[in-house]
Amino acid sequence: MLVLENVHTHYGKIEALHGVSVEVNKGEIVSLIGANGAGKTTLLMTVCGMPQASSGRIFLEDRDITNEPTAQIMRSGLAIVPEGRRIFSGLTVEENLHMGGFFNNKTEIRKSQAHVYELFPRLKEREHQRAGTMSGGEQQMLAIGRALMSRPNMIILDEPSLGLAPLIIKQIFEIIGQLRDEGITVFLVEQNAHQALHLADRGYVLETGKIRLHDTGQNLLANPDVQNAYLGG
Ligand code: ATP
Repeated sequence: MLVLENVHTHYGKIEALHGVSVEVNKGEIVSLIGANGAGKTTLLMTVCGMPQASSGRIFLEDRDITNEPTAQIMRSGLAIVPEGRRIFSGLTVEENLHMGGFFNNKTEIRKSQAHVYELFPRLKEREHQRAGTMSGGEQQMLAIGRALMSRPNMIILDEPSLGLAPLIIKQIFEIIGQLRDEGITVFLVEQNAHQALHLADRGYVLETGKIRLHDTGQNLLANPDVQNAYLGG
């Protein structure tokens, strides 16, 4: 579904990704874990073309998207929930959702909205509330809901558990599992390595811009190096 082949990404003269290869198959949850500054966000954003890869190839559903503009990539059945959520805090929940459905016609937007409210009844209850006044967990639900408005085949999530209380994190991970059950392929970046690997079919460990390990989520959880570096020993 998504394939990165030997991708290098630069910020000016500085190389942040040093030849990264990753595969996410249809219907999988794949988690990418790594320390602060390892290049996780850079990897996700390179898939979206912001910044573009300086070399290597990226394929989405067998189409080479390496040099495509971001707007075109985002019309190809891919949706992203960026780090820090980036919701429009002055707009209501409903208005935020409509911003996520802007490629679709009104009937499709209504359908997608109903689907999002089914998945997140809490958002329906708060439909007319300004997004900026909601709790962190509700805002994360909104960010995921907004991404779902375009009816993606694949969703990329950057640190969805960041700054949330344990109970809310559990809910967010349950929802991510539900997305896979609905047939959406998930590529997840997380510092919360334990939960991310527990949920994942497969995982990758990124260290200073390189993939150090990849395996099933279960095998990575059992790997002593991963335990020492990312799971608190
Ligand atoms: P975190 O978990 O802290 O978000 P990360 O693994 O997502 O970290 P990135 O944000 O991708 O890591 O950063 C990888 C490297 O690229 C870091 O050295 C960072 O300083 C650098 N970097 C990231 N964004 C930019 C930018 N816009 N301009 C220059 N350098 C950048």
